[in-house]
Amino acid sequence: MRTIKEIIVHCSGGNQSNTAKDIVAYHMMPKKLGGRGWHAPGYHYIIEADGTVVRTWPEESVSNGCYGHNRTAINVCYVGGVDTQKPGLPPLDNRTPAQKDSLLKLLRHLKKVYPNAKIHGHRDFAAKACPSFNAQQEYANL
Ligand SMILES: [Zn+2]
Repeated sequence: MRTIKEIIVHCSGGNQSNTAKDIVAYHMMPKKLGGRGWHAPGYHYIIEADGTVVRTWPEESVSNGCYGHNRTAINVCYVGGVDTQKPGLPPLDNRTPAQKDSLLKLLRHLKKVYPNAKIHGHRDFAAKACPSFNAQQEYANL
């Protein structure tokens, strides 16, 4: 079993209508075909706009969401997190009520499985806005 120290929350940084499948395909597609060319997707779970939680990678395996932390992290992502109407896609917490609900339930579950893990936003570890809200604060009492 991996030792899990962090549960890291992300946003996909794209359109809210994207599916988990779209996002994983983009991560795994070779660079020459326009993807990221990763050997593992960025996240273990992706929460779609309607609140559907899709398990995209086994928890026992390392995903590719947060440089320097992946070996000890579970990466969780909600679809959205940017204002696609504006140039430069500025950060926007556009979680739907269903996504908020699913994210809370998923994080509660993961905290039960990994009671010593701390919940963070990606931005706690990188110069990024991801996940476009303060996850550490919002889930401090889980
Ligand atoms: Zn992120």
